[in-house]
Amino acid sequence: MSTTEDFSAYFARMEEKTGAFIEVDAAALKKAADALDKAGKMNGAGTSAQSLCALPFAVKDNIAVEGMSLSCGSKLLSPVRAPYTAAAVSKLLEAGAFPLGKTNMDEFGMGSSTDASALKKTNNPWDESRVAGGSSGGSAAAVAAGLVPFALGSDTGGSVRQPAAFCGVVGLKPTYGAVSRFGLVAYASSLDTVGILAGNTALCKSVFDVIKGKDERDQTTEGSVRYPLPAKKTLAVLAPQALEKETAAGFEKAKERFSALGYTLIEVDIPALKYAAPAYYTIATAEASANLARFDGVRYGKRSSFAENSDELVDKAREEGFGAEVKLRILLGTFVLRSGFQDRYYHRAQRIRAAIRESFEKILGSRKPEAANQNVEAAAILMPVFPCRAFGRGGGGLSAFEQKAADLYTCCANLAGLPALSFQASVEGGLPVGVQLMGRAFDEETLFALAADYEAAHPFRHPAEYKDWWK
Ligand code: GLN
Repeated sequence: MSTTEDFSAYFARMEEKTGAFIEVDAAALKKAADALDKAGKMNGAGTSAQSLCALPFAVKDNIAVEGMSLSCGSKLLSPVRAPYTAAAVSKLLEAGAFPLGKTNMDEFGMGSSTDASALKKTNNPWDESRVAGGSSGGSAAAVAAGLVPFALGSDTGGSVRQPAAFCGVVGLKPTYGAVSRFGLVAYASSLDTVGILAGNTALCKSVFDVIKGKDERDQTTEGSVRYPLPAKKTLAVLAPQALEKETAAGFEKAKERFSALGYTLIEVDIPALKYAAPAYYTIATAEASANLARFDGVRYGKRSSFAENSDELVDKAREEGFGAEVKLRILLGTFVLRSGFQDRYYHRAQRIRAAIRESFEKILGSRKPEAANQNVEAAAILMPVFPCRAFGRGGGGLSAFEQKAADLYTCCANLAGLPALSFQASVEGGLPVGVQLMGRAFDEETLFALAADYEAAHPFRHPAEYKDWWK
């Protein structure tokens, strides 16, 4: 059997198991298989000085690739084909990489399991009875299963880092404004980022170096500010609370391993963190209710077959097109923004957001280059990603409320606009445990250096049946 057949058969089998993709481009799949057939191996992905040339990648289905699906995991948008290509994808195309397909996600990025997709289920490659995490669960599963070396996702409150942790891969939520959001379907614009899921730290860095930078089409983007790497190898460690036993064990291992690598660990407490999830859900739903108002089934999207008048046309499209979680959040968002009540919810959430940003800046130093060398205690903050490993479905799962409360460790980076990198700390009871490092704005460099140190000493493990095609 030729390598082409090997990879195609492997892809079909692993995709069948995981359900990572909403759409696979048959020609791109053949191109990927052919590249492997000629060389036997891929051109050095996984090494430090790597090029992205001829590497296939997957794209979450809320990031536009011209001509491909842009469903956002929603019935309402399932017939839509993207009319243009997102900035991050264009840059990857220029670097010679090519999109293999679009991956499954919680509808409009709202969820932590990918089970809120209206289109299909995605399973965790480590244990098919468990979720891959969310909302970028398809992208995480595709990377963890070895279907692609890397994938794009979006992270508004943890949607890249949490599925990366559940699937044992690397997940970067960049600094707000480091990567253009042009071509990303908005969920909560002040929190949304385009993120990366990759099989290893070096590849994640290579992809970030390609997609970052100023873009005229997203006015929040900035060129990156370079920080000198902190001389002291000091890590702040958040004392976590209420972690599942295995997740706590993985977190302890990460601490021990960083100590063994010569890092000094200082325990920190961030009292404002207990308000992070409520503040996040107030701000995110408020922004979502405005952003999702455009989906009316008139300009695009699925239209109802019969309506008496234009109001009914829009009502029906939204009633039939949106899933329960999306409807809940639109209602929540309009509730917190309702006139006369903004002080009680929205403005209070904004004050919590400012307090969280301040507590991080105290630990890490300010983002302003002139202040960067003052008060900088820690190179990064080591934190859990999620209180538990990949959860199961039904009785073994987490309720929708528990899932939201569990976002506290991830959503704070979005509230503060800071970069955070999640990676495999260890494997406990057959499932990966992820940890994350949060850093100063535009200082992704330090996070990559720290994770690369860890990975060199403790190479990431893979699920059974995984085959590394991308070396
Ligand atoms: N769990 C978060 C939510 O449901 C994740 C959102 C995200 O990052 N897209 O809102």
